[in-house]
Amino acid sequence: MEEYTHFNGEALELVRDTNIPEAKSMLDRILTLVNPPIALKAKQLGGRAQQAIIDKVRTAVKNIFGILLDADMQPMDDSDQRHVDTLRDNVQKVRASFNLPFPKVFQDHKSMLAAWVSNNFADPTVNFSPMYFDDLSLLDQAVTLVHERSHTILRISGHPGTGDSPVCIVPHEGKRLGFDVAIRNAYCYEWLAISLHPNYNPTPYRDLCRDNSISGH
Ligand SMILES: [Zn+2]
Repeated sequence: MEEYTHFNGEALELVRDTNIPEAKSMLDRILTLVNPPIALKAKQLGGRAQQAIIDKVRTAVKNIFGILLDADMQPMDDSDQRHVDTLRDNVQKVRASFNLPFPKVFQDHKSMLAAWVSNNFADPTVNFSPMYFDDLSLLDQAVTLVHERSHTILRISGHPGTGDSPVCIVPHEGKRLGFDVAIRNAYCYEWLAISLHPNYNPTPYRDLCRDNSISGH
């Protein structure tokens, strides 16, 4: 397997040395934070900063995946815990997939997509278009890798509940798809990864929504 095909040196180094380590770190952060016992422990320790992080995690997980991640959850109600476990298992699988080489191909032609994978999940190739390098910020490049690898590793095709190009989404607000749909939508993994990042700022996403609604009239 050729790990990198048709990339120039600069693009190869960007993906290998910056984007992939960032994608790994985003997935590690999800695994650390989306963890009710840790939320409970942080709550016991107190402190405003910790509470702010707990609130941020709970809000994102509830809005995006429809999961209540509440340290005060009733012990007899285990359904949300099962959903948390499924989400963590899936994120763990996507995270582990970044430890092994997978084929990447630069497709030097105009595309509507920055990156894409095959619906034949036996083919793990991630394809990159010039848009990936020209139009995406470093964080967007990393979450795009999270998105594409989620398709392949979790064997989830299409984007149930959102269509292929959701517009006007503020990541931490998600689209309130409910767990059964969200867990099969690669965008939801992308939104969770970006919304828990320390540099996440919802304002540009909100501005984009406003611009879209103005130009739509
Ligand atoms: Zn996708």
